[in-house]
Amino acid sequence: MSPKPQEAVRAHVLIVEDNDLNRKLAQEILHLHGYATATAVSGEEAVELACRQAFDLILMDIQLPEMDGLEATRLLKSKPPTRDVPVLAVSALARSEDRERAMQAGCDGYLTKPYGIKALVQAIELALSARRASPDSGLASSQAS
Ligand code: MN
Repeated sequence: MSPKPQEAVRAHVLIVEDNDLNRKLAQEILHLHGYATATAVSGEEAVELACRQAFDLILMDIQLPEMDGLEATRLLKSKPPTRDVPVLAVSALARSEDRERAMQAGCDGYLTKPYGIKALVQAIELALSARRASPDSGLASSQAS
């Protein structure tokens, strides 16, 4: 799904979230802010999709059934091309150890649920700008023909 056709797509984001309502909410917010989205409901699906399709960012729920967000992130960060895609962790766990564990798994940012619209967009932009700043990174949006 994409924002309105007359608007340029800011970035392609993969939303990984097992809760229907949270997933739809994130999707809605991102579309309103000009991001194109795809969704996955499990760690397995996220890894499979990210290997087939180029994303600029992955919004990764940590609490997922079977393969959780941490394990999915470790897999994604273990090899190209997905290792260069920033992963923004989203979790209801707010302790510093939880954040630390996510960063150790390879997450590039950590957002606590419930989040505000502004917090989500800011966290996404921060993760994207960190990637844009690194010299040899091409964004999926600019690579797309
Ligand atoms: Mn969840």
